[in-house]
Amino acid sequence: MPLQPPTIYALASGRPPSAIAIVRVSGPQASAALGTLCGRLPGPRVATLATLTSPDTGPVDQAVALWFPAPHSATGEDVAEFQLHGGRAVIAALFAALDKIEGLRPAEPGEFTRRAFENGKLDLTEAEGLDDLIHADTDRQRRQALRQLQGLLGHRAQDWRRQIIEAMALVEAGIDFSDEGDVSAELMAPALRRVDALKNKIQETLAASAQSERLREGLQVAIAGPPNAGKSTLLNRLARREAAIVSPHAGTTRDVIEVHLDLDGYPVTLIDTAGLRETSDPVEQEGVRRARARAEAADLVLWMCETDDDVPPSFSDGAPRWVVRNKIDLAAVPAGGEGTFAISAATGQGVDPLVGALVEFAQTYFGGGEAVLVTRARHRTLLTETVEALGRAGQRAGEGDEIVAEELRIAIHTLGRLLGRVDVEEILDSIFREFCIGK
Ligand code: GDP
Repeated sequence: MPLQPPTIYALASGRPPSAIAIVRVSGPQASAALGTLCGRLPGPRVATLATLTSPDTGPVDQAVALWFPAPHSATGEDVAEFQLHGGRAVIAALFAALDKIEGLRPAEPGEFTRRAFENGKLDLTEAEGLDDLIHADTDRQRRQALRQLQGLLGHRAQDWRRQIIEAMALVEAGIDFSDEGDVSAELMAPALRRVDALKNKIQETLAASAQSERLREGLQVAIAGPPNAGKSTLLNRLARREAAIVSPHAGTTRDVIEVHLDLDGYPVTLIDTAGLRETSDPVEQEGVRRARARAEAADLVLWMCETDDDVPPSFSDGAPRWVVRNKIDLAAVPAGGEGTFAISAATGQGVDPLVGALVEFAQTYFGGGEAVLVTRARHRTLLTETVEALGRAGQRAGEGDEIVAEELRIAIHTLGRLLGRVDVEEILDSIFREFCIGK
């Protein structure tokens, strides 16, 4: 008998207690789980009310059970789904009952999606889109993630890969006819034309998608300025008012405080670099170094100071800097005082125009464009490598048909990696590990 994959189960819904909890089971033993708990197998894809009963401990809950036989399920395997009452003890009792069934074990993060991927339900870019959709905080992020999940990049990449394979077929036919120089050249010329057109197409896509990685991560706005200027006060005010989201980011040090704002659907990450101070403690120095690096990589710097402070020359190359003069409730900005904004972080005076300007900045930054394809550094790297291989195929055509074929092979392989067709286990592991348990 071939070795069966383990059957996995996990809570797919949010943190209990909740009105309803959804527990999914995927794998060859899913039907056994349903049979054991419901006493019979419900009809396929029909919501069935059942008293779930553990053979050991008796009734677990009155719940809805669903049966999705393979391959018409989210993972492509047999899937059972239980919609039960969302109490901790209810979920624990179901888990205890599932654990007793031979061949079942709790799922690891991303394991359901990984199985869907391995069963061809989605390619790697679509799986990434799914993860982005679950983590989308703002409406623009949601829309971008949904497009990704629906294969906007995946389908395009498949199409590009197919076109390169066709060009490759011409080149290889040319190699077969290499004794007859005319035929070979006749096959090679159209192949190279196609390759060149495709290279330009992918390049254009890369250029048009420059902002989409930022849409995933949020526009980075650093708040800098002298101590006591009111940076934290402004941050708190904005966080209270605008932020549906105040979530810590991985890699955040204690020297950088981040607030995630949803400004009219655009994600904006405000970074307070209050920790930027001279220090002899090596741990803190590292924190300061990171804080400074974050501020320097920001898309916009808000330089906060008091109404009559001198403003130092811009410390950040490239990123625009807005001077925000604070504490206008105490003193007016003196005539000639440089500044883009005059506010009182404490009373809120002048904060609305600042927020309005931030929304406008985000609108301009992201543009109105919807068709964004490249949302991750991984996509950008692999598409850039594809463009390079296609470029070399054209440049080195004079060196022989085999060289062209080899470069095209690299391009095909690289697009295959984008789609997750040819990647090594550890890369897949690292991508799926970022997912939630139960997804
Ligand atoms: P930071 O060091 O730049 O983060 O500054 P804080 O936000 O901690 O503020 C320093 C001090 O200035 C605190 O005592 C705040 O209450 C006060 N402060 C901040 N903004 C204003 C303001 O608009 N008006 C007045 N009067 N005080 C403010």
